[in-house]
Amino acid sequence: MLFLLAPRLRSRLLRSALLLLSLASFGSLANATPLQSAPASPQESAAPASAAPTRNSTTSTYHLSPEKYQKAIAYSRAGYRLYFLSVFWNLAILLLLLRSGFFAKLRDFAEAHSRNRFLQAAIFVPAVLALLALLNLPIRLYGHHLSLYYQQSIEPWGPWLWDWTKAQLLEIGLGLPVIALLFALIRSKPRSWWLFAWLGAIPLSLFLGLIAPWYIDPLFNKFRPLQETQPQLVESIVKLTSVAGHPVPRSQMFLMEASKKTNAINAYVAGLGPSKRIVIWDTSIQKTKPEELLFIVGHEMGHYVLGHVVKGFAYFLALLFVALFLAYHCLQWMIARWGIRGQSDWAALGALLLLFNIMNFVGEPIGNAISRLQEHSADAYGLQLIQGFFPNANEVAAHSFQVLGEEDLDDPNPPKFIVLWLYSHPPLNDRLRFAYDFGRPAQSQTHPEPNQIPDR
Ligand SMILES: [Zn+2]
Repeated sequence: MLFLLAPRLRSRLLRSALLLLSLASFGSLANATPLQSAPASPQESAAPASAAPTRNSTTSTYHLSPEKYQKAIAYSRAGYRLYFLSVFWNLAILLLLLRSGFFAKLRDFAEAHSRNRFLQAAIFVPAVLALLALLNLPIRLYGHHLSLYYQQSIEPWGPWLWDWTKAQLLEIGLGLPVIALLFALIRSKPRSWWLFAWLGAIPLSLFLGLIAPWYIDPLFNKFRPLQETQPQLVESIVKLTSVAGHPVPRSQMFLMEASKKTNAINAYVAGLGPSKRIVIWDTSIQKTKPEELLFIVGHEMGHYVLGHVVKGFAYFLALLFVALFLAYHCLQWMIARWGIRGQSDWAALGALLLLFNIMNFVGEPIGNAISRLQEHSADAYGLQLIQGFFPNANEVAAHSFQVLGEEDLDDPNPPKFIVLWLYSHPPLNDRLRFAYDFGRPAQSQTHPEPNQIPDR
């Protein structure tokens, strides 16, 4: 639900380890490393050295100076490589630990120290999660190195490491009860646990979606009511959203102090029910014009009004249903391998993590395809919203994409396969061109594309 976020190096282990937790799908956990990607028109990719038509009166295509172009390409490509490396790295680690009998030995150790299942879990689960986090740390370190090198992040290593530590502690704190409960369920319902786990995931994810903006997000970033520092902006948003028939209360607008950690621009919607909110990064306020910021808010409003948080949640649950069903069946096949005694054996956690990692990877294009559709509808909504507010609404929106691309080093020319697999948003150039052509009759469009129809 972010305004701009191409592939992210998300903590795959987090998502797999917590199995049922939908933290990642609520999109605001601060330990995600945004690795932007870049887009260029065909000529630009062929001849990147062409002088950029800077500050033209109209912004019809995403363009970068030759120097920025090279940087955007290098940064985004490094991000793609790192993503695939991290996936295979994590799979290799899990396979190696399974084959070496590590999980079985750790289970023996936990069982030797207590006969109580919950105490065993308290030994086994944190040890597994902490070890996996440590083995994954080199990838995360390199990811932060990249964002520092390309001046996306400005967070020094000390605070970054502290954020990472907090995220791991949170993972263990949430993972321990969830995994202990899951294994209790496997013991008591050996054939139908996957269904009950799925049913249990519904209230749990709703609960996490509700509390994340209140208790989890503030662990990583500072938030304050937007009204406190930007009363004028708040008035404009109230006016804009009231005209649209969906007024956003002032109490649901927040400013995130992103500038302490990043140069990137962004905004997002999060929360459920009483915790629902629009969050604007302070970097966006600093680097965009007020009318461009209103378009960004319009896009976020689109997510809000079109119910994307709830719909995203429903898609997540549908995918989780399939994943748990498959996990149950695959787990039966894995039993008796790698010293796993049965599906309720603690050592089976290693096999479950492997399965969820694989499914997470394979499911990525599905989740991202859904996300791209939602982002496209939110763009269309935002464009519709600002028509009539500004005489040059299309240019405002198109130029906001241009600024975002420049600041966030968005890939001017992402490979098709990468878009399919990793892009949670349409490529920036497509978004910009859609904005430029929005509402124009088809024959006068600069970039007519039949599939670019608002799909809300
Ligand atoms: Zn969005």
